[in-house]
Amino acid sequence: MPQRRFILGRTLTLLLAMAASVGVLGQGPVLVGLRYDDFVGPPAKGPDQRLRMENALFAACRRVGLVPTVSVVPAAKRYLDENLGPWDSPAGRQRVLLLRSLATRGAIDLAQHGYRHDFRPDEREASEVAGLPEARQREMISFGKQVLRGLVGRSVTTFVPPANSYDAATLDALAATGFQVISGMLGEGPAHREDLMYVPVTVEFAHLEDAVRNAAAYPGPTLVIAMLHPYEIRDYAEGTGQHSMAEIEATLLRIKAISGVEFTSIGQVQREHPELACASHFRAAAELTPRFRSRVFKPLVYLALGGRQRWAWWPQEVYRGVRWVFAVPYAGGITLVTGVGLATVAWRRRQWRRSGRRRLRRAR
Ligand SMILES: [Zn+2]
Repeated sequence: MPQRRFILGRTLTLLLAMAASVGVLGQGPVLVGLRYDDFVGPPAKGPDQRLRMENALFAACRRVGLVPTVSVVPAAKRYLDENLGPWDSPAGRQRVLLLRSLATRGAIDLAQHGYRHDFRPDEREASEVAGLPEARQREMISFGKQVLRGLVGRSVTTFVPPANSYDAATLDALAATGFQVISGMLGEGPAHREDLMYVPVTVEFAHLEDAVRNAAAYPGPTLVIAMLHPYEIRDYAEGTGQHSMAEIEATLLRIKAISGVEFTSIGQVQREHPELACASHFRAAAELTPRFRSRVFKPLVYLALGGRQRWAWWPQEVYRGVRWVFAVPYAGGITLVTGVGLATVAWRRRQWRRSGRRRLRRAR
């Protein structure tokens, strides 16, 4: 009978410790940012449909209280299959005005997105900079920086490489041209430098909500930065868009309601959380989804489709299961430490009681 009570007591203690460890796992703020890429010059002719969509997107962000990081291509002539007009045309000036007024009010955070956003024909998926000599990269990046400063009236110090592709020479060129932050894609690119902050995107917008819910289950502060492009927004790109503007706003509102979530921007991370702006602070939850996808699934899809499919979208359920591979050792470790602690206390108490009884007997 006492043995059964002992086992019951220990089981209850262990269950309590596990519950406590799950509680601990659920703590820590989740900083959530949105990087809107490919803000380019105006269309060469016709109405600027993209500007209308961008106005709506930035208004939606303002309503939910999020400051998006807007990656601007300084010297765009082409964007995908489309010819672009110059910045100093009437349509171009409207785009510049939007950027300037939003940046002045602190409603957007600015980043430089390459120079012309070209793709090198010799290498699929490689941007205009990666692979070029450092001096050439420095020239392009620095020229883009000057153009951007002329457009928005301020120096932009965050660099987003086109196609998230860059190399060690890009990092040297950025440090030499006064950049402070590099934002590529988590798990891609060379090892980062100590003098450049590192705030990559960790997930595509389609998987942002799931990534934030996963991240909320991990201890300590976590950064989750999503990437969004014009061609993903249905109101602008009917053929390729997967999200309507209304869905984007609704998703951001749901994310805002998750306990521990704080909206941020790359610039704010740089100013207020510099300790998080390095590779080691991206936790498993935020890291797992994109890395798993880009390292394992994306290459398989490229092979299957003959390298034509640029983006592949997968159901989050595929990745969600893998999260427990990381969660179980955390919970197990905390349970073990608590269990050992409680057992030690119980043992000491029993020793103390026994020696007390002995003292009592001797006294008698
Ligand atoms: Zn881009």
